Amino acid sequence: MDIFQNQRRDFIKKTALGAGSIGLVSSSVFANELSSPAQERLGIALVGLGNYATGQLAPALEQTENCYLAGIVTGTPEKAESWKAKYNLKSENIYDYNSFDEIANNDEIDAVYIVLPNSMHAEYVIRAAKAGKQVICEKPMALTAAEGQTMIDACTENGVTLSIGYRLQYDPYHNAIITAAQEKTYGEMTYVSSQFGFKIGDPTQWRLKKALAGGGAMMDVGIYCIQAARYIFDAEPIAVTAQEFKTDDVKFAEVDETITWQMEFPDGRVSNHTTSYAFGTNHLMVSAERTRAMLEPAYSYGGLKGYIGDKVLDFGKFSQQALQLDAMAVNIVQGKPSKTSGKEGLADLKVIDAIYQSLANGGKRVTI
Ligand code: NDP
Repeated sequence: MDIFQNQRRDFIKKTALGAGSIGLVSSSVFANELSSPAQERLGIALVGLGNYATGQLAPALEQTENCYLAGIVTGTPEKAESWKAKYNLKSENIYDYNSFDEIANNDEIDAVYIVLPNSMHAEYVIRAAKAGKQVICEKPMALTAAEGQTMIDACTENGVTLSIGYRLQYDPYHNAIITAAQEKTYGEMTYVSSQFGFKIGDPTQWRLKKALAGGGAMMDVGIYCIQAARYIFDAEPIAVTAQEFKTDDVKFAEVDETITWQMEFPDGRVSNHTTSYAFGTNHLMVSAERTRAMLEPAYSYGGLKGYIGDKVLDFGKFSQQALQLDAMAVNIVQGKPSKTSGKEGLADLKVIDAIYQSLANGGKRVTI
């Protein structure tokens, strides 16, 4: 943590109480309390300026209280120009993929956030760790659990933290269900049913290329269902059984289109899931001993709707990404492990490895 100037550390420390308990409210609630010059916040560089970085993360970094957009890494010179103007970035804080490692010498960049196609996550997380920067990486963390482990090892060896961009663990709707599970408000959680899919467009995009994506709908959005079952049951699955379906062998020649799967948890509990690139579905249903909870949509960036028993959930407007980034910034500065650390990413990849293994073996039950 000696990379931070005392002033910055003190600032974050002072504000950590509010931001650390952000779970159920908008970071804007803290606006007056936390407003501070940008240089006192954690400087973040976004790596890969695609749809998610452009549409969600950069706007969120304009709302965050504990971190700000300090730099960018892009392979597209036009984006470098337009982002520099839009976000008032310094020229020396703009990198491309060749100059990326020079970020090690830039004190204004405390953390880098990898928002590249899946197959590039491992390389850039490891390079960022070697540059001594705190690392945030998008989901899926890697293509396999083995690859994910190399990323965790690199961060450990270089003394930096690794967080995975699981925005929903910072979302109040999901946290309401997690809290009910932890506090056993309605008894034990007994069953999770969840689906997440969308109809994918452009047949030439990287998400349909195995070398860049690693897999299809499962790697991209099925992973949210795995996460949900794991955090609601607060347990790791012990076995999976999976089934695959295809309506378009040409478009989905390299990656999975639709997968259904079941996860077995200790004590005989089970979860049941569907993910797809062929149709839209966005749903989470949880049975507890004394009630049910439901979210639909469950996994969108906003507009989540749902209930727990007879309680309708309504948390107003907020940015999931701002909540996520602010909470991560506090943890980084305090040297605390991230709520969504590399270990979380790895746990999901172990399940995904097992799901693909089940499919490769005709839907056989695979123990984890
Ligand atoms: P995009 O295709 O929109 O953007 C990816 C960016 O990566 C490109 O714009 C480009 O940026 C850079 N890039 C570098 N090399 C390549 C390459 N060979 N092919 C394509 N792009 C390349 O993807 P998304 O923003 O949708 O997704 C990026 C990551 O974020 C993925 O891992 C995805 O799973 C994750 N994600 C997470 C979400 C969440 O809710 N947590 C939501 C959406 C995505 P440049 O031009 O700057 O070099």
